[in-house]
Amino acid sequence: MPDDMVEAHLQGVRNAAAAGWRVLTRGGPALDAIEEAVVIMEDDGTFDAGRGSFLNRDGRVQLDALIMEGATLRAGGVGCVEHLRNPVRTARKILSESPHVYFVAEGAEKFATEHGVPLCRNEDLVIEREVERLREYQEEASGHGNDLFAPSISHDTVGAVALDRDGNIAAATSTGGTLNKAPGRLGDSSLIGCGCYADNLSAAVSTTGWGEPIMKLVLAKWTADRVAAGNLPEWAAQEAMNYLQQRLNGHGGIIVLNAQGQVGIAHNTPRMAWACKTMKKEEVGVVRNSV
Ligand code: ASP
Repeated sequence: MPDDMVEAHLQGVRNAAAAGWRVLTRGGPALDAIEEAVVIMEDDGTFDAGRGSFLNRDGRVQLDALIMEGATLRAGGVGCVEHLRNPVRTARKILSESPHVYFVAEGAEKFATEHGVPLCRNEDLVIEREVERLREYQEEASGHGNDLFAPSISHDTVGAVALDRDGNIAAATSTGGTLNKAPGRLGDSSLIGCGCYADNLSAAVSTTGWGEPIMKLVLAKWTADRVAAGNLPEWAAQEAMNYLQQRLNGHGGIIVLNAQGQVGIAHNTPRMAWACKTMKKEEVGVVRNSV
């Protein structure tokens, strides 16, 4: 995250936490809170989710999202959608209204239309900053050999976890994926247990970063299992980042929350924007120092 983007990221995560908090304070479920928080970040051009996402090799926005409820293990996911302004809303409808868990591409968009979600044009999701970023990247890559997975490329996926007054937790993750990805490439973000997971008996988890290593390690579930085994979310989050780096030289970040309200936030990148709001305090930052 470049210096000149820090303030926009801080404001973005602050707005998202506030939207989630509004739902929780009126007694709403964690599932609604994270949906609203993620919608705010999808609509915010700062992040790699919804409008303003990284572009794929063909210059198109292709989005993935997952939402999961810890009380019931119900989940809804969409992959490779190109005409949904807020993929997390359709993911939520899949969770609530479909016997299936996952829809991709045109099938997901057909499901959305059938359930009252309007489609948008792909151009509506593309912003000038990303057109320029892709152009620069492709120009540079043509000279140096195209390292699609270079850890130095920034990652800006969004995610949220929440605990409600009934003691239920939930998690959601939404992304435009990686810059210059091949059309049809699906990352970790929308895969259950990789970029997102929630179980009241373990933890709600959302991850960001270089997706291929994260999915090979099924990292969200790996982390939730460590919490279920009795470890603190703070420790599990840090361990997940160590595991990602040591095992596959992966880079990313993670947020973890258990049903007791204990929080873990960690990243092995220089920065990751995060916000955390509880009854007692509100904190935001772009660096989380491990405890
Ligand atoms: N994890 C996402 C992906 O690989 C990218 C990101 O977190 O920014 O699709």
